[in-house]
Amino acid sequence: MAENTDRTPVSVFASPGRYVQGRGALGRLGTLMEGLGSRRPLVLTDDVVRGLTEQVLTGSFAQADLPLAFERFGGMPTSAEADRVSGVIDEGGHDAVIGLGGGTAIDTAKAAGDNAGVPWVSAATVASTDAPTSALSVVYTESGSFESYRFYSRNPALVVVDTQYVAEAPVRFLSAGVGDALATWIEARAVRRAHSPNMVGGLPTHAGSTLAELSWNLLWRSALPALEAVEKNLVTQDVEAIVEATTLLSGLGFESGGLAAAHAIHDGLTAVDQTHHFTHGEKVNIGSLTQLVLEGAPASEIDPFAEFTARVGLPTTLTEAGLGGADETVLDEVVRAAMAPSETIHNLAFEPTHRDVRDALRAVEGVGRRARERVGLGEPTPEDYT
Ligand SMILES: [Zn+2]
Repeated sequence: MAENTDRTPVSVFASPGRYVQGRGALGRLGTLMEGLGSRRPLVLTDDVVRGLTEQVLTGSFAQADLPLAFERFGGMPTSAEADRVSGVIDEGGHDAVIGLGGGTAIDTAKAAGDNAGVPWVSAATVASTDAPTSALSVVYTESGSFESYRFYSRNPALVVVDTQYVAEAPVRFLSAGVGDALATWIEARAVRRAHSPNMVGGLPTHAGSTLAELSWNLLWRSALPALEAVEKNLVTQDVEAIVEATTLLSGLGFESGGLAAAHAIHDGLTAVDQTHHFTHGEKVNIGSLTQLVLEGAPASEIDPFAEFTARVGLPTTLTEAGLGGADETVLDEVVRAAMAPSETIHNLAFEPTHRDVRDALRAVEGVGRRARERVGLGEPTPEDYT
């Protein structure tokens, strides 16, 4: 007799319909949308990104004989903002929505597209998170705290990443993307060890875990030269490799490989005001270090990781996170949020206690300070990130 298919664990791998990356990729967006069968797409973006891209998109959409309609993104990926944008999609009769810019505009476009029942497309001008390829959004409250993950049954129909824009954006965006992507293998490895579920409702496939590891290897090889190139607004092969690692490989790797403690700690950090000066990937790096301490990873693994991420320009201490002098109640709030029942920290092979997590978080300060010293960086301060 056949197994009850609803109860038998299955492996699941998810991906966007198409991924297009390179210098000038945004100039192809019109033709690519036409290829999807869209006749009336809506572009969701903020004023800054609109200013940078409008000329290119006007030409690209005209070439594909598509009307170009912009909607101004409110800046915070809340459910209210997603509802507002889906209203605009309905009223304008749009048949697709494009999230243009960084992770927050992209995540809001996914939610609005899902509400309105139209396909969504990610067009990234920065490589600061691995949001563009995934079938989930991170939903925030108005005040910028993590609220929940929202899962969709579909991934973006198309992902476009223009590396020229990535190279012209402030280098801090790319370094944050490196932080987000380095966590991917640390987390996917833990999920695989524990036979825990990934983010698409199944067990990890070998493909999911392997892409997470490939992302990790490319980052160690090419992140520093890529960041140096982006400082000078250059697009080099290292930049292309790092954008692929942070956007495509980390995106597929985290979603199909699974998340664990690093992202749960990130979510916990968003619960307190002290860390709001940090980007997603910066908070995730504190999470990666915390997970490594929690797992009891050897110094031969933690120390090079802390040194490398300090050189990448990521925070490695609680001091930089604005939590250097934080009392127990603040850290307790972080840990409580990180250990909420729906959190991915429960994907670890063991169940840490509140105290275990708080002590691991505290231990990061010493690990990070020593690493900074070894690579010749000075005293850490939160001002480095303002
Ligand atoms: Zn992330």
